[in-house]
Amino acid sequence: MKVLFAASEIFPYAKTGGLADVAYALPLALKKYVDIARVMPLYSFMAREALCFYDNFTITLDGDNYALKIWQHEEKGIITYFIEAPYLSQTDSLYGDSLADYKENALRFTIFCMAIVELSMRLNITLIHLNDWHTALVAFFVKKYDLTTKTLFTMHNLAYQGIFDRAVLKILGIEEHYFTMDALEFHGKVNFLKAGIAFSDCITTVSMTYAQEILTETFGCGLHGFLEVHKKKLFGILNGIDYGMFPPLKEIGDKKTAKELLYKKFQFVKKELPLFVMISRLVEQKGLELLIESLDLLLSQNLYLFILGKGELEYVKVLKKYARLYENFYFFEAYDEALSHQIYLAADFLLMPSTFEPCGLNQFIAMKNGTIPVVHEVGGLKESVHEIKALCGRGISYTEQNKQEFLYALKRAQDLYEDQERLKHYQHFNLQCDFSFNKSAQRYLELYRSLV
Ligand code: ADP
Repeated sequence: MKVLFAASEIFPYAKTGGLADVAYALPLALKKYVDIARVMPLYSFMAREALCFYDNFTITLDGDNYALKIWQHEEKGIITYFIEAPYLSQTDSLYGDSLADYKENALRFTIFCMAIVELSMRLNITLIHLNDWHTALVAFFVKKYDLTTKTLFTMHNLAYQGIFDRAVLKILGIEEHYFTMDALEFHGKVNFLKAGIAFSDCITTVSMTYAQEILTETFGCGLHGFLEVHKKKLFGILNGIDYGMFPPLKEIGDKKTAKELLYKKFQFVKKELPLFVMISRLVEQKGLELLIESLDLLLSQNLYLFILGKGELEYVKVLKKYARLYENFYFFEAYDEALSHQIYLAADFLLMPSTFEPCGLNQFIAMKNGTIPVVHEVGGLKESVHEIKALCGRGISYTEQNKQEFLYALKRAQDLYEDQERLKHYQHFNLQCDFSFNKSAQRYLELYRSLV
């Protein structure tokens, strides 16, 4: 079996969130068992020195030809192919700027999908593992051209569907008869994610809880009915992380040193206070509304709060305002991988008040760094962070997404901090956890085998 793993972002080449981490880690865990390669776009900002030229070919959409160059790079025994194409490779960022998504995204990612299909034929691929809407049309083209290649489609976040005006169908060379409710049509628009759901041989999402949640109106982002129709081929498999990429804490003492360094760097003078952190994209999903609503009460307590994040302008403005008002709050507006590692290690508690969370990776990274997650009990968080009780449990979790519950969870965290012996017990307990991809890779393998 030859597998091609397709994603719009892969660590370390390009990353905006968890998808890149998974696209790095899962193929690494699978490579012991299957012949696997990856494919992603070549973005304009990526360094090219280390890449080798592999091939070139042309694809056609609605009579227009697009000349593509394919590059490759091998790391840790896995080849990643990079598609260089007009539009796809000509933007400054992956999906858009701070104001809006790029208007050519439908064309950009359709070219990407066509290129994946062509490449998979040249490589004799048995199964293409697709990820999110950027790759979803591959399943459509495979069925349209009656190819024997199998497709498995993983949905990392249903909130992002790739929805475009009906007019794009013409540019993409997709016939109008596919514009139906059981295929690409969604409230008068074209929906790429629907193509992945409808035409893939198997669909998965990134936790068992989220696989159930998306069948409900609350979490289904308008697709719960459509998913219900396809639920026989829907599975939930919990994500994992690569511990080479996020090295676990070696000794609990290292945590103290990391905290002292961070407090010194950011001039936090009250060394005895607990450190709560959040490392996140600043979007509604991550619970920013609830957090902001709770900030006055939260920051009037004896604790430090550090937020490392990048995202929507409105949230940035408010957080900056609070950072000016409160000495015990530091807001670092950036996407900074190295700083994130220092913070995971230095923190006592990691906040994840997400309104929904398909899986979430931050909690996995935190636990192996001896940091206790404080989470809203949804999606993958429900599955991986159980409330500490007796001598078991991995974190603090609350069920209702409101200020009262959130602040009460923070109170439990502070109480735990007051009892350092108890805190140490749970830190040690978390260090034993295994949220690597080993177990989940086996589940993907079973699905691959059931399809070919
Ligand atoms: P999502 O994909 O929804 O953003 P995940 O929890 O699946 O959330 O993955 C988030 C990943 O991105 C983690 O590796 C996290 O450490 C990282 N991350 C998020 N925000 C930042 C930031 N501002 N700086 C550095 N890393 C970040």
